[in-house]
Amino acid sequence: MHPSEQIVRVMSRIYAKGMTTTSGGNLSLLDAEGDLWITPSRVDKGTLTVDDVVRVRRDGSVDGKHKPSSEFPFHLAILKARPDLRAVVHAHVPALSAFAVTRRVPDTLVLPQARFVCGPVASSPYVLPGSDALGEAIAAQFLRGADCVAMENHGFVFGGTTLQQGFERMETLEYTARLIVGAETLGGCAPLSEAEYAESRRPNNLLPEFTASTPSAREQELRRQLCAFALRGYEQGMMIATEGSLSVRLDAGSALFTPSGKDRSTLTPEDIVLVRDGRREAGKLPSRACLNHLAIYRAHPWVGAVFNALPPHTTAFSIARSAHLTTRIIPESHILLRDVGVLPYAQQYGDGAAVAAAVSTSQPVLLFRNNGAITVGGSVLEAFDRMEVLENTAKVLLAAKPLGGALAIDDQGIATMTKAFLGV
Ligand SMILES: [Zn+2]
Repeated sequence: MHPSEQIVRVMSRIYAKGMTTTSGGNLSLLDAEGDLWITPSRVDKGTLTVDDVVRVRRDGSVDGKHKPSSEFPFHLAILKARPDLRAVVHAHVPALSAFAVTRRVPDTLVLPQARFVCGPVASSPYVLPGSDALGEAIAAQFLRGADCVAMENHGFVFGGTTLQQGFERMETLEYTARLIVGAETLGGCAPLSEAEYAESRRPNNLLPEFTASTPSAREQELRRQLCAFALRGYEQGMMIATEGSLSVRLDAGSALFTPSGKDRSTLTPEDIVLVRDGRREAGKLPSRACLNHLAIYRAHPWVGAVFNALPPHTTAFSIARSAHLTTRIIPESHILLRDVGVLPYAQQYGDGAAVAAAVSTSQPVLLFRNNGAITVGGSVLEAFDRMEVLENTAKVLLAAKPLGGALAIDDQGIATMTKAFLGV
C-alpha cells in the first residue's frame, strides 16, 4: 500500500476509535527512498484523504498542498536516532494522557501481551511543542531503546518498523492504561515479575504441521463465523488488534483457531488455522492459547467453542492486587456465568491440563490472573455471549464502586434462583 494510503487508513482508525481529536495527533512513515510521508498541519483528521498527506524529501524539499505537521521535528529526530524504525505515531490518547499529566508511565508488566507489544515505557520531560528541543528530549529516550515514550503534560509517541506496528503499540498501551486506571479503583495493580513474563514467551503453538485438504462446507462456515465474531469482539472493545483468541470444535479430533500475531479486526477465513490430532495446518500459527483450548475440548465433550479475551473492565479485575468479580449481583449474570473461577498466572502456560480441570458445567468462566478471561460454550455465540455478560458484570461492579459498592443477592436468593432457572 502507498505510504499516504497507509497514513490515511491508520489515521481514520485512530479517529474512529476516539484516540485523537480532529486537530491532534500525527503520523509519519519513511519510504524505501528515504522520503518521509507525514500528516499535514491544521487539516481535519476525521476527513483526511491521500492528497492531504505531505511528502518531505530527503533533501528537505516539501511536496503537497499543505504544510507538514508542526511536530515534524520530533518525527525526524526519532527516525534519525533509530534507523531500525520506519514509522512514528503520536496522539493525545485519553487514558494515556491521564498518565502524561500525572507524570506516570503505565507498567506494561500487568499483562504479558502488553509487555511483548510495547516493551518497557520511557518518559521525557515537558518541552515546548514543535521545538527542536522537544525532538532532542524524545529522541534521547528512543536512543536508549524505548519504542513507547510518554511526553509529560502532552501525550505519547510510538515508533514502529511499520505504521501498523506503531498503531498496535499505541492501541495496546492505551488499552493497558485503561486497565490500570480500573485496577487502581479496585485497590491497585499486581504486575508480573520479569521471570513470570518470560514464561509467557515459551513457543507453545509450534505444533508439528500437516497438509490440510479442501475444507468441507461446514468448516468453511465455521471459519467465516470465527472471523465475524473476532471482528465483533474487536468492535465491542473486548479484543484489540494484538489480543484475544477464539476457537471452535470441528469434530472429535480437530478445532479451528484464530491465528497468532495477526490483527484481530481484519481476519479472513484463510487466516484461520485448523489443528487436527495435535498438528497444525502447514504454514500457519494458531493462537498461543491453543494448548489450553485443546485440553478443554479433550476433557469436555460438551464444549463447542472457547473464547479468550481481555475486555477492559473484566481485565481490571484480572490485574488487580485483590478484587473479587462476583456474579451474585444480577440474576442474568449468575445464571449464565455461575461463580467465576480464578486461574493463577503460573498455570496458564502449561499443557492446558490445569485450565481444563478448572472448567466445568458449573464453572464455564475463568478469570486468568494478569490475562483477562476465558469463557466456554456449546457454540461460538454462547461463549461470546458469556464474555459479553462477564464484561457487563465487571462494568457494573466498577461503576457501583463510587456509589458505595454493589450489594450481593443473599445465599437463599441465589439458591432459589439457580433451582428455578437451572434446576440445580
Ligand atoms: Zn501533540
